[in-house]
Amino acid sequence: MEEMPRYCSRCGSGQLQMQIPPGDDRQRLVCTNCGKIHYQNPKIVVGCLAVNDNKILLCKRNIEPRFGYWTIPSGFMENGESAEEGAIRECHEESGAHVKIEYLHTIYSLPQIHQVYLIFLAQVANPEGVHPTPESSEVRFFGASEIPWDKIAFAAVEYALKKFVSEPPSKITYIASLPAHYR
Ligand SMILES: [Zn+2]
Repeated sequence: MEEMPRYCSRCGSGQLQMQIPPGDDRQRLVCTNCGKIHYQNPKIVVGCLAVNDNKILLCKRNIEPRFGYWTIPSGFMENGESAEEGAIRECHEESGAHVKIEYLHTIYSLPQIHQVYLIFLAQVANPEGVHPTPESSEVRFFGASEIPWDKIAFAAVEYALKKFVSEPPSKITYIASLPAHYR
């Protein structure tokens, strides 16, 4: 999890302290020098269920966390890009895949680590062209019966994969609150 900033990014010298600002209802990081409130908000992870011939592209993580486990191409959204652009970019960076997004497949909230996943269903335009990358030691397509369930890196990815293999396609798979065992 990310570290809390300790010093103010506006005045540069003020130390930050947790307190409830006037009119607010929860603890915030407030600068003890200039008073700026440093809001902390969830980060958005974008990724793709990248599909070719009904097989799903998985990447073996060459980085921590979850080194050596399989995941879908995904990563943190950058400022200045749309969610779809971020998902397409991550696919290419992590696997060499060029994808065409079809629809939003899964929204998955992880409130305990301050993340929201947006996972798109996408078709891979260059299935012969995917390859290992600095982030992925191995990149390959898995049929539904071949998915290495005990080696999937993240709960959100496992959830999306299970939805993909067990349900007919639907435009959006939205879950308002998670089953307890996924937390
Ligand atoms: Zn300050």
